[in-house]
Amino acid sequence: MAIAERIAAVRSRMAEACRRAGRDPAGVRLVAVSKTKPAQAVTEALACGQTLFGENYVQEFVEKREQVEQVAPGAEWHFIGALQSNKVKYLAGKVTLIHSVDRLALAEEIERQWGKLGQTADILLEANLGGEASKAGVAASSLEELARAVARLPHVRVCGLMVLPPFFDDPERVRPFFRELRQLAEHLESLKIPQVTMRELSMGMSGDFEAAIEEGATLVRVGTALFGAR
Ligand SMILES: *Cc1c(COP(=O)(O)O)cnc(C)c1O
Repeated sequence: MAIAERIAAVRSRMAEACRRAGRDPAGVRLVAVSKTKPAQAVTEALACGQTLFGENYVQEFVEKREQVEQVAPGAEWHFIGALQSNKVKYLAGKVTLIHSVDRLALAEEIERQWGKLGQTADILLEANLGGEASKAGVAASSLEELARAVARLPHVRVCGLMVLPPFFDDPERVRPFFRELRQLAEHLESLKIPQVTMRELSMGMSGDFEAAIEEGATLVRVGTALFGAR
């Protein structure tokens, strides 16, 4: 299947999920996860009107972004992968949202690098809800403390939460994690921490984005269903 058809198919499934949940489709954005795929895959998707892309690896992102910019400017990039503090400087000013902030030291480095540019970074706090040691993310019980600490950084804005739940083939087994993330966001919102909003919920991937939308996702991160297997 051509990329245009894959994008159309994913968009129509997103719209259906919105309809089932009584949600406005404009409230859910598709992040096309282009990791390991060449710049050409991105420019093809751009030509089909897909403008938002997610990348996981800093060096790959920097190179790909430059290649894409040369032939087709206009892409918006999110960083969704595990992030080391010493690599943050390569992202500054180049991504509009970092989904994967799970520790204060990382937020402090984002503060430093975006501050140098006189800009404010939008970030999400990544939650680890499955208790998997192999995965990044902060435990639900520590989210409030991290949100309050990050809120004190003037060049970093917390815009919501992200989760990478345990893997299950059956989306119904992932759904409880999506629901939990939304409930955590509602709780954090109710605390009215200055500079912290919960307007974004980044959850759902190729296998389960419809369930995520039904549970409140505002950003779905979809790779395989758009670009094929990696
Ligand atoms: C790779 C990746 C995705 C996309 O996964 P697919 O199953 O290919 O849709 C989403 N989120 C994160 C954090 C990823 O690393």
